[in-house]
Amino acid sequence: MVLRNELLDAESDSDASDSEIEDQGPSDPFQSYNGHGNYKVNRNVASDRSEVDGITVPTLLPIPPSLQNSSESLCSTCKSLDLTPQRFVVLPGDPVVPGEVNDSDAEPPANITLGFIDDIRKKAPHCPFCRLVLAALGPKVPSVGNQGDKVEVTLTWRTDSTVRTLRPRVQTKSGDYYLSLQPNSNPEIAMLANDAPHEAAKKSQLVRLINDQIDFDMVRNWLSICRAYHGGACDESKLMGGYRIKDPAIEIPHFRLIDVVDNCIIPAPPGSRYVALSYIWGKIDLTKILRTVKDNYKQLEVPGSLSLPENQDRIPLTIRDAMIVARKLDIRYLWVDSLCIIQDDIGPGGSKMSSISMMDLVYGAAYLTIWAANGIDANAGLPGVRPNTRGIQQSIEQVTPNLRLAAKMDSQDFTRAEAYFTRAWT
Ligand SMILES: [Zn+2]
Ligand SMILES: [Zn+2]
Repeated sequence: MVLRNELLDAESDSDASDSEIEDQGPSDPFQSYNGHGNYKVNRNVASDRSEVDGITVPTLLPIPPSLQNSSESLCSTCKSLDLTPQRFVVLPGDPVVPGEVNDSDAEPPANITLGFIDDIRKKAPHCPFCRLVLAALGPKVPSVGNQGDKVEVTLTWRTDSTVRTLRPRVQTKSGDYYLSLQPNSNPEIAMLANDAPHEAAKKSQLVRLINDQIDFDMVRNWLSICRAYHGGACDESKLMGGYRIKDPAIEIPHFRLIDVVDNCIIPAPPGSRYVALSYIWGKIDLTKILRTVKDNYKQLEVPGSLSLPENQDRIPLTIRDAMIVARKLDIRYLWVDSLCIIQDDIGPGGSKMSSISMMDLVYGAAYLTIWAANGIDANAGLPGVRPNTRGIQQSIEQVTPNLRLAAKMDSQDFTRAEAYFTRAWT
């Protein structure tokens, strides 16, 4: 079926699903959070609560031994940057660092020159910060530009009022446009939250160590932030031109949902909150998988029917993982095209075409959408749901004994975009 519009929604959700390394919401009683990644420092509110509005930030993972007591030291260029934990947070009353930029400013010229990419590559085996800069820029940065002159790396401090990060940029003397050289669109280096100089900063937008499996406490934290701070903005779908659906069970004909508690597929109960799954089928054999059809939809309404081996074994892995995610997030219902649309109910009066025509409402009204962004087919699974499936390596370096820095990851780093962006049918 054509999922013509879902990508818009998926993109907005992908920020939340991928960026476990940032944006953990309100945490500091001295700060108020506007829900869009920005805090306002407010020194008039004094309290030692670790929770604000019921939002709990999960505790940090400990620093592994591999990131402690490194015997390496920085090269002389990196040493002269004078990197300290204090420089990576903004404390109330801090003076503005010369040359630092705010998100709202236009990008000024970079103000620190780190050297030519060739030289940085030579120093990288011995200098942890040189190595991190290369990791942040990505593996494909060329040594020479289009005009044949050497590619140089510069650094800019950037602040968003609570944290400072360093942004490496590459360019050549003849002024090749840096983006054309740079595979990572937005390379950025931030401090590991564990090394923050004060408690509040540990919970702000610094990099967190992540596990092999998804931290669902963190996902619940994001959902709480959404509920507490985003108001109606997240209920209105871009897909529907700002239209806010009141109850999909009533407004969408033939609307069915997977009940992940009773393990069956039922007509959507009124007012049900659900997760939608956006994924690609790829080249899988449709005759071997479980799909809802006129012959089995009644049987699949029976509680427990999806747990029967003859059914469960035929549910593609990505869908099974999505069921686990919904359960972990305490959201009882899940919408998946192959199981929630009666696949052979076609022809005059059939439900299939009307369901497909309502697809934008289905995604638009979902409480959240799981975007299976890196799978090449429906059996790829969702990385991090089961053990040893995440496959993410964070680039973190110990640059001084009390400071570890990380190349921030972008949602693009997790996306096998090609398969997703090129498909038209699922
Ligand atoms: Zn260095
Ligand atoms: Zn939201």
